[in-house]
Amino acid sequence: PAYVSGCENEALDYGDPLETLGILRMFYDWDDEREFFVAAVDPSLPTFWGGIARSGEDATWVRMRTDSWTSAPWFHRGAATFAHEVGHLSGLSHVPCADGDGDGTPDEESGGATDPFHPNNDTFPDCALAELDPEGWYGFDVYWSLWPLDGPTVISNDPAAAAPNQAFPFMGYNNPDWTDPFHYCVLLDYYGVPCDTGALGFGVIGDAANDGGDGGDGGDGGDPEVPPANDEGFHFFAGTITPDRTTIDLGLIAPTTEHLVERYQRQFEGSDGHGHGEFLLRALGDDGVVVAEVPFSDQGSQHGASDVLGFGILLPYASDLSAVEVLDHDGNLLAMATAADSSIDSVAEDLQKIVVLCTIDPIMVDWELPIVLPPGWTTTLLYSHDGGEHWMTVLPKVEGTSAAVDGHPLPGSDGGVFKVVASNGFEVIEGTSNPVPIAGNAPIPHISAPLPGDVIATGQGFRFEGNATDREDRQLDDDAFAWSSSLDGDLGSGRLLDVDGMTPGVHDVKLTVTDSDGMTGTASSVLFVDPDAVTPTPSAELLSAVESAFARQVPDEDERSEEPAAGGPGGDPADPDDGPHEDPDDETTAVPWVVGGGLLVLLGGGLVVARRRG
Ligand SMILES: [Zn+2]
Repeated sequence: PAYVSGCENEALDYGDPLETLGILRMFYDWDDEREFFVAAVDPSLPTFWGGIARSGEDATWVRMRTDSWTSAPWFHRGAATFAHEVGHLSGLSHVPCADGDGDGTPDEESGGATDPFHPNNDTFPDCALAELDPEGWYGFDVYWSLWPLDGPTVISNDPAAAAPNQAFPFMGYNNPDWTDPFHYCVLLDYYGVPCDTGALGFGVIGDAANDGGDGGDGGDGGDPEVPPANDEGFHFFAGTITPDRTTIDLGLIAPTTEHLVERYQRQFEGSDGHGHGEFLLRALGDDGVVVAEVPFSDQGSQHGASDVLGFGILLPYASDLSAVEVLDHDGNLLAMATAADSSIDSVAEDLQKIVVLCTIDPIMVDWELPIVLPPGWTTTLLYSHDGGEHWMTVLPKVEGTSAAVDGHPLPGSDGGVFKVVASNGFEVIEGTSNPVPIAGNAPIPHISAPLPGDVIATGQGFRFEGNATDREDRQLDDDAFAWSSSLDGDLGSGRLLDVDGMTPGVHDVKLTVTDSDGMTGTASSVLFVDPDAVTPTPSAELLSAVESAFARQVPDEDERSEEPAAGGPGGDPADPDDGPHEDPDDETTAVPWVVGGGLLVLLGGGLVVARRRG
């Protein structure tokens, strides 16, 4: 675990793990991965909160509790908290659902703003996943087959229903929780699948951030200055605000990356999910002139302790930045950090360089500082496997001038280099090591289907599903994934692989993943093809219905390119994901979800049909 607060849970300490994760995130400059760093904390550790997210650092930690409920076996507390905290980082605010103390005010308000666009904002305390429907909502527990259930549970959305059948939006404080249609639509939209919350009968969220975030006054009236990002980097200041005390705990300077430019812009767009304007971070130049102002509210989501606020603010690099101040709504000065307090006058050239030496077996990085660093300076150890094109944080907040490095998590390289960066937020000094060979890593595969215990009937198709991480290649081709079975030999390749006609019996399934250096990693699982259960082939009538449904919904490749976004009664032909559920005549939606295996066959058959057409 990155951090545990212990039983004392000092208010001013709670930001430490987030700042540490924030440093990891800040210097991680690949653009091919999404932006959040999550620390999974062992559930045995006595943290006070289940999890805390802080948008200013794009980081969260989550206590990975494994509780599940017999009455709601699809609910997993650690996973739900994980989703909740990452939801905060993505810009989602709380949904008002819980009123444990019966005071008529949503308990969620103690953890920050509530989402004015979520439908439950108007219906509190009758919090539900969707419109009241006696049929409830199907399909939330898509993995029901992993538990000894006859079919998917119908999740009631009736506030008067008995607890076992109820579920709540995952951004609220009621449990068990699950993704509600509103947030599901937001997710689809995020991943590029058009979804209009308005069409679902909910409020429109399109410009939610812009409409909702502009409540603050800039401390001195008028719009605050928004200086553009530049190529010279960012100043970053993080700290904590309590009723008694405000601190600026961390100051850094980081290079300009796409990720930081985006995060910088979010500060002003209000799309970090937290209202603006309670506080102001003001940056002053050499002569005391204000060079930038960033209004902010609490950027944290700690639950049940609303008097402890956290912030992490970026400012475009300015060589004459001399001080930052935190002011409250009335313009009172709460905290201040000045360059002069901890300056080492790095303008002198011989003071800008850190001499770094790396030796291997084991990997040791030693460095010589040009001067003893005053309090307020933070040292970070970075690593690059590609000659300095990309960097990642190896150790944040390093003490001393030497570090033993575990090479295992590092991408391998013939000439890996380490960099030591020291900063107080106003000045920065750094140095890069000699290149050293770092051993490469094999891919680490993971099989998500089949999972041990999965059973299919003889004649039933199965979709194998796997993925892998590889530290050097990062993104692996589909060809890198090879599947085999102890009974049927080679099955084929791909992250997703549909296989029909498997031999009855117990299949030891193996996934072998090969990276561009020829290193391989394997994962295994088991699939039982039950010889006593035979799935009847779907009737010709049903197959024909499925085929005609797909014929309407999935155009040929040719049609897609020739017919740009024509639109029409069946949906947008340019968009194969414009789902079949919009079509009232669609036979597939009328298939009752009684026998899970039967549905799987139907969908599989439909996919095959659609592919053959292409
Ligand atoms: Zn929350």
